[in-house]
Amino acid sequence: MDLYEYQARDMFAEHGVPVLPGKVAATPEEAYCAAEELLQHGDLVVVKAQVKTGGRGKAGGVKLARSAEEARTHAQAILGMDIKGHTVHRVLIALGADIAEEYYFSILLDRSERRYLAMCSKEGGMEIEQLAVERPEALARIPINPITGIDAHTAEHIAQAAGFDAECGEKVAEAIVKLWEVYTEEDATLVEVNPLVKTTTGEIIAVDGKVSVDDNARFRHESHAALVDKRTENPLEAKAKALGLNYVKLDGGQVGIIGNGAGLVMSTLDVVAYAGEAYGVGPANFLDIGGGADATVMSNGLDVILGDPDVRAVFVNVFGGITACDQVAEGIVAALKILGDNASKPIVVRLDGNNVDEGRRILREANHPLVILEETMDGAAAKAAELAGK
Ligand code: GDP
Ligand code: MN
Repeated sequence: MDLYEYQARDMFAEHGVPVLPGKVAATPEEAYCAAEELLQHGDLVVVKAQVKTGGRGKAGGVKLARSAEEARTHAQAILGMDIKGHTVHRVLIALGADIAEEYYFSILLDRSERRYLAMCSKEGGMEIEQLAVERPEALARIPINPITGIDAHTAEHIAQAAGFDAECGEKVAEAIVKLWEVYTEEDATLVEVNPLVKTTTGEIIAVDGKVSVDDNARFRHESHAALVDKRTENPLEAKAKALGLNYVKLDGGQVGIIGNGAGLVMSTLDVVAYAGEAYGVGPANFLDIGGGADATVMSNGLDVILGDPDVRAVFVNVFGGITACDQVAEGIVAALKILGDNASKPIVVRLDGNNVDEGRRILREANHPLVILEETMDGAAAKAAELAGK
């Protein structure tokens, strides 16, 4: 899960990374009040669009203000703005820094090297991708051993590699150690500060923050649940998550997919994408109901998928293993009973594997008007695509 900037800054503050105070506002009036309060501690505030995408500054989503009135005017302009497809619902009003220099620092997960990577540059502020391409020598890349992490010594080495002089490097290194603390203690997969600034009085402050936390570590962090933004969460994914299902909504598809086993579901997506070309349709979701899928899991899965307005036909692709085909077939029949009139779209079923004949017999005998049995995966994909294309 990616965090909003204000959430990242809160996290920074908790771990001792220097940030300036700020307040979130959802209306120009709230922005005015927040600015009025903050301006008692300085003469500059920044009004910043809170969207989970970069380049807000370029898009006009970051504005400086020297009075509460000016902050209100900027908030008025920024709230409701569309930045790369993200609507701005809230702004952060933060005390502004008097910036002397802008630096860059990040820690990320380097999957191919099976370790972490720290990146640091004296040339921050601009888009780092551009810097990495145009002047790669200006961006220090230091591999981080996951076991030992970033201690004071490693942090100094990073600052040195980025070309900081001893005095400034020492302060930057202090911030880096704290940012590592954020990374490891919050189970983050990305911590990025662009810009990390030096103020005119020589302080090092994180002015922007981008943090992604690992959802698989959610159980270790009670506080992370509160960071979820219900407004932007996909409602089908939220429902599936609440039901304990392994579901991912896919954009632009019309064929709902249910399978048992992640590998089978992945290949089902491919087969449906291929078969769907002729009908201008594709897979609408990923849903793995796992090995021991009983009637409840099947009906929960069907319920989520049938509730997707994009879905026009469903493809249930099951290979019977430990859970044999007859049990799966019973599950489908029971699921359709549970769903009753909520089952309203054609369901193409392909069963194979352990006890397949018995499974098919059960489905044939149930003779449900929406269920279409197909023998092969390709045949079922073509049928589902055809039905969804109608
Ligand atoms: P981004 O464009 O989404 O990365 O948003 P940032 O938070 O990085 O802000 C973009 C730019 O606005 C920064 O690179 C700074 O130049 C400027 N900026 C942001 N905060 C401040 C601040 O507190 N004081 C000053 N003077 N400029 C700021
Ligand atoms: Mn930035």
